[in-house]
This record gives sequence, structure tokens and C-alpha cells, in this order.
Amino acid sequence: MNTNLRQEFPAIKILKDEPLSKYTFTHTGGNADWLALPTTVDQVQQLVSYCTAHQLPLTVLGNASNLIVKDGGIDGLVIITTELTKITVRGNQVEAQAGAAYIDVTKAARDAALTGLEFAAGIPGSVGGAVFMNAGAYGGETRFVVSAATVLLPTGEVRTFNNDQLAFGYRHSVVQDNQGIVLAATFALQPGDQEKISNKMNELNTRRAARQPLELPSCGSVFKRPTGYYAGKLIHDAGLQGYTVGGAQVSTKHAGFIVNVNHGTAADYQAVIKHVQDTVKEKYGVQLQREVRIIGRDK
Ligand SMILES: Cc1cc2nc3c(=O)[nH]c(=O)nc-3n(C[C@H](O)[C@H](O)[C@H](O)COP(=O)(O)OP(=O)(O)OC[C@H]3O[C@@H](n4cnc5c(N)ncnc54)[C@H](O)[C@@H]3O)c2cc1C
Repeated sequence: MNTNLRQEFPAIKILKDEPLSKYTFTHTGGNADWLALPTTVDQVQQLVSYCTAHQLPLTVLGNASNLIVKDGGIDGLVIITTELTKITVRGNQVEAQAGAAYIDVTKAARDAALTGLEFAAGIPGSVGGAVFMNAGAYGGETRFVVSAATVLLPTGEVRTFNNDQLAFGYRHSVVQDNQGIVLAATFALQPGDQEKISNKMNELNTRRAARQPLELPSCGSVFKRPTGYYAGKLIHDAGLQGYTVGGAQVSTKHAGFIVNVNHGTAADYQAVIKHVQDTVKEKYGVQLQREVRIIGRDK
């Protein structure tokens, strides 16, 4: 099919053969055939129905902080939500569009003296990605604060899911199963003391900066926490810190992170991940599962 999405949707910002390495936190990844940056929910709906009608593959990304896009890029259309950034405070609730930075939502809550979101002060994803992944840190999880999310289903139906219906689990929500696109989420918070909220956020961000290699590109913790173990400790004990393929390296600061130290490719990342999994399995009999998602086509 001879698609020209720019002609089809002149009002939407659409780029052709756009390098995804410009958007991913790892700075890796090939080109998207098409990349759209919609600014309204209506534009998202238009693009999704076009893809359905024309059987054009569709991928939705937020801040691209929890994935590795392969070096061959992504077929069809990639929608990046980061222009959908509206955040509204209503009483004890904060409503945010999917592309709003989770960090900005935590700041809006703090500014309104609402407590409950401090744990997310340093999670660099979008609201949509946080709901999709049930992002969490320092004992907090997205599932403890989200009361509802608006989701565009593949059928074109827009449905509001309450907290139960979102079926959150460890780094999981129902959106991973129903192929939905999160359009917005509502966070139910409690009135709190603004200074205490602010201090807590600062404290957690200081702890994060001391432990995590935030000065280098990465995709956060690569592996899920295996039952009864810590992935980082297993990787550290296996002597894998500093292990490097091309430009991708097991961080010497935090063994759970793989950092891009020198123009690493997605293939470098994949090779490091495999080596870490194989070594930990061989030494400790533990199969590390990836938290990070690997998407796209091989080169
Ligand atoms: C330095 C660093 C620190 C991190 N610390 C943490 C942490 O403490 N805790 C934690 O949980 N995570 C952490 N992460 C990982 C990441 O920030 C979170 O998983 C975040 O929730 C991902 O959001 P995103 O918008 O970047 O998602 P993306 O990486 O863009 O996408 C991740 C997945 O979500 C899907 N997705 C994104 N948006 C939508 C949407 N609107 N609708 C449907 N699906 C969607 C994508 O298709 C993809 O499958 C860290 C990452 C980095 C780089």
C-alpha cells in the first residue's frame, strides 16, 4: 500500500523515516516508517482508526524510557504521546493526559499539597507508560494511586477502567493484555503538608542519583525482581559489572542498569542482556526476566 500519512493528516505532526534513537532513553533504535506526535485525543483516535482500516501496524510510545527499539526500526506508524501533556488538579484528584511526564504529575500534586505520589518523583516515564507498566519505586506503585484510566480499545471504543479493572500486578496492567492505548489517568491523593511532600521527593531523588547511573543513557532496571532475590545483587555477585559489548555496558554504579557508554546499538544491548541472563542462570540457577521491552525489527 502506498501510504502517505502526511497527506492524509496535514494537521498532525507526522515524520517519515524518523530515527527513534532521537526519542529513546538508551539513544538506540532504527527508524519508524512513520512517527506521529498528536496534540489531541481526537488526533490519536483518527490515527488509530486509519491504522485499523488500512491494516497499518501501530505502536504507541510514551517517553521511551522503558524499552529498546531494535536497530531495524519499527514498521508502520509509531505514535509518541508526549505532546498530550495536560494536567488538572480537582480537589484531591489529579487528572493527567497520557503523555504528561509522571514527574510533572508529582510536581502538580506537590504544588497542590496532595500526598501519595512522592514515590514517583524520579520515574522518567509518561503517565500512559506508568499505567501500562504499573511503575513503582521505594515501596510505592502506580496501582496505589490511580483511581481510573481512560483507554482507547482496538475496537475504537473509549472506556474508563477503574482501579480493579486495570488489574495491576508487578510491572503489569490489563492494558498489556487488551492492546489498549491509555489516553488519560486520574490519581486519587490525600491532603498533605507541602513541605513534607517536597522534602520526601527531594530525599528520594537524592537517593536515586546516588545509586543510579543517571548521568548516562539507560532504560532503567533491565530485569524484573526475581522472587527471593534482587536482580542487581545477582548480577553484581556474578562479576558482571563493567561487562561491555560495543557501547552497551552493565553499569558499574548499579548492576541492574545497562548504560550506553559509547554509541551503543540495540544489538549491543541485546547481547549484554543475553550474556547477563545466561551467566546468572548458569551460576545461580535463576532465570532473569526482562522488565524492559524490546520492540521493532532486526536490521
Ligand atoms: C533512569 C531510569 C530510571 C527508572 N526508574 C524507574 C523506577 O524507579 N520505577 C519504574 O517502575 N520504572 C523506572 N524506569 C522505567 C520507566 O521510566 C517506567 O517503566 C515508565 O513507566 C515507562 O514509561 P514510558 O512513558 O517511558 O513508557 P515507554 O518506554 O514509552 O513504553 C513502555 C511500554 O508502555 C507502552 N505504552 C507507553 N505509553 C502508552 C500508552 N499511552 N498506552 C498504552 N501503552 C503505552 C509502550 O507501548 C511500551 O510497551 C526508569 C527508567 C530510567 C531510564
